[in-house]
Amino acid sequence: MNAQVVFLGTGAALPARGTTNSAYLLRIGSRTILFDCGPTILQQLAAVDVSPGALTHLFISHRHGDHALGFPMLALWWALSLPPAAPLPTLLAGPTTFQSLDAVLDNSYGDAFIANRARMAPRIVLPDAAPGEALLAAGLTVRTLPMQHSAWAPTLGARFEIRPPAAAEAVTLAFTADTGPTDAVLALARDADLLVHDACYSETLNPERAGGKVHATAAEAARDAERAGALHLALVHVDAAAIEGGQRDIYLSEAAACFKGRVSLPAATHTLEF
Ligand SMILES: [Zn+2]
Repeated sequence: MNAQVVFLGTGAALPARGTTNSAYLLRIGSRTILFDCGPTILQQLAAVDVSPGALTHLFISHRHGDHALGFPMLALWWALSLPPAAPLPTLLAGPTTFQSLDAVLDNSYGDAFIANRARMAPRIVLPDAAPGEALLAAGLTVRTLPMQHSAWAPTLGARFEIRPPAAAEAVTLAFTADTGPTDAVLALARDADLLVHDACYSETLNPERAGGKVHATAAEAARDAERAGALHLALVHVDAAAIEGGQRDIYLSEAAACFKGRVSLPAATHTLEF
């Protein structure tokens, strides 16, 4: 089973000029999983030539707008562009996130045919405050863990475990979504082939941000990756000031000093193959 991660955006809540909110597309065998959907998700999918009708799963880590406000736009697309009998993607989120998704859908496109169609999407409700697990396909499991981000917006990190039937190697892809430093990342990313970690800040540029309860620094992300034994660390949700100030290399060298594996700070549409 081949796996591909397409970075649709790696910006923070208020992204730098010309960039977009953090969201990722996972292509695993015949499955296409969208991880988070900020307000410009339709444009982000169009930029990589993927139709919203091609999604098999939509995982929403938490209800903050930069991760969830694209949901009514996807619902609009499904209602207007899909044949009535076409299947909708399976939605995965915690109960608090689902509550907000339903509210924002009703407040954006409560028109019956749009909201009713989106409500037909199958749902997998994952625990807000405990480990969760779901089988997405034969050999494809997602495990979730609560991250350290917001009491109001419980946030789930996700570990996708891909176990091919034959001799091919298993692949593990871990995504923290938004998080401050937390030991939960160690279980999330244990021996992962890829860890996509919140690295909103840099300890070099913003030393006062170290030990934050909402977002991590590049060094904190790298220490997590090192302790977890991950092979590749991708820094995401990067502060707009750093991107606009041309300070990407500071993030990368700060992380490289704490992590022996590969470090990257992917731009939108960058794709990794596994
Ligand atoms: Zn958030």
